[in-house]
Amino acid sequence: MSPSEPPRPSATLAIDELVRGRRAAGLATLHLGFGEAGLPVPPGLADVLAAAASRNSYGPVAGSVEAREAAAGWFGRRGLVTGAEQVWFAPGSKPLLFGLIAALDGDVVLPRPCWVSYAAQAALLGRRVIPVPIPAEAGGIPDPDRLDDALSRATAAGACPGILVLTVPDNPTGTVASPAALAAVCAVADRHGLVVISDEIYAELAHHGPSPSPAALLPERTVVTTGLSKSLALGGWRIGFTRLPDGPLGKALRARLAGIAGELWSCLAGPMQAVATYALHEPAGLRGYVERARRLHARVAAAGHARILACGATCRPPAAGFYLYPDFAPIRDALRHNGITSSSRLAAALLERHGVATLPGGAFGDPDGVLTLRLATSLLYGDAEQRHLALADDRPEALPWIAGGLDQLAAAVAALTGADR
Ligand code: PLP
Repeated sequence: MSPSEPPRPSATLAIDELVRGRRAAGLATLHLGFGEAGLPVPPGLADVLAAAASRNSYGPVAGSVEAREAAAGWFGRRGLVTGAEQVWFAPGSKPLLFGLIAALDGDVVLPRPCWVSYAAQAALLGRRVIPVPIPAEAGGIPDPDRLDDALSRATAAGACPGILVLTVPDNPTGTVASPAALAAVCAVADRHGLVVISDEIYAELAHHGPSPSPAALLPERTVVTTGLSKSLALGGWRIGFTRLPDGPLGKALRARLAGIAGELWSCLAGPMQAVATYALHEPAGLRGYVERARRLHARVAAAGHARILACGATCRPPAAGFYLYPDFAPIRDALRHNGITSSSRLAAALLERHGVATLPGGAFGDPDGVLTLRLATSLLYGDAEQRHLALADDRPEALPWIAGGLDQLAAAVAALTGADR
């Protein structure tokens, strides 16, 4: 991207706008395109927010002592001993990721496919991207068997790899890298002197128990980013935080982040710091909410997975969050008969012909000719009242509005492949 070229809108925010526009124009649309948790505000938080409304001063750039201590305790309970000085808050983890890439040296190594914003942020900062395909089993990390070679080739071609971004658990694939694969990736990162940014925003939503953190494997050189957007469904409240490593790198990053954050966002909004402090102490009501949300996401994603496989696509089994990343390569011929030869055409046909909004794999860095899509199953949970019901239900995938959405998806794919005739 040249400096005069304006950045394109984020693909995920763009599809959300598009769906809003379609609905405003009276076009019924099944929205599977946007990575929002789709759940109500957890119990107690609206009261905490209201009680903190008078906190209208700018606060410390890194966040209040109380919020940072609460976050340090939260990391500690997850096996990462953390001091409050290692924590930094921001309005969402997205600006933190940008600030960290800006604060670190070098080009950015990314798994392919990966979440939409990493490559866009690297481009905004004038860094090269070195994409490395993900392994067959799970995404969020580069294939450890290809990473070493990709780094050597990139360096020979003049790149300067300095940062490796991992997503554990992953968006778009909804999977969790195995401890062995993570250890292998961290060993290569260590040999090449890379700093690891571990995006763990979905860690609380791993379906089968805690996911491993690279910070336990490469402690001096791993920065963890996370936030409350997904586990507590607070995306619009914009609460993100990072755990910097202990030691010289953490110290240097604190100094650089102070400059970057001070010029860009000043601090996380005061009332949100009160919410973060409360939430990160994990009262029982919030722990129960996260448990129920995790179960809901797991059950609906698993039901969606079964439908996708029945359509003839391949898809890694979902293991975290609320995403599926099917690959329609096995039914490529049937799709070609309908003029569909790329992920962008597939997504466009689903939306324009069947009112189903998804994101094409191309948005996540896959070559457009690959027939991958990212589906977010969380927006199937319905309107405000239905979301409460979905959260409380033992078999949410059987609720009529959720099962109906999954049926609509399966019927749309069948129609595109001619399987409905
Ligand atoms: N990282 C990943 C992998 C995401 O999917 C998202 C949101 O979709 C974010 C980071 C950003 O989250 P936030 O800025 O709301 O903390």
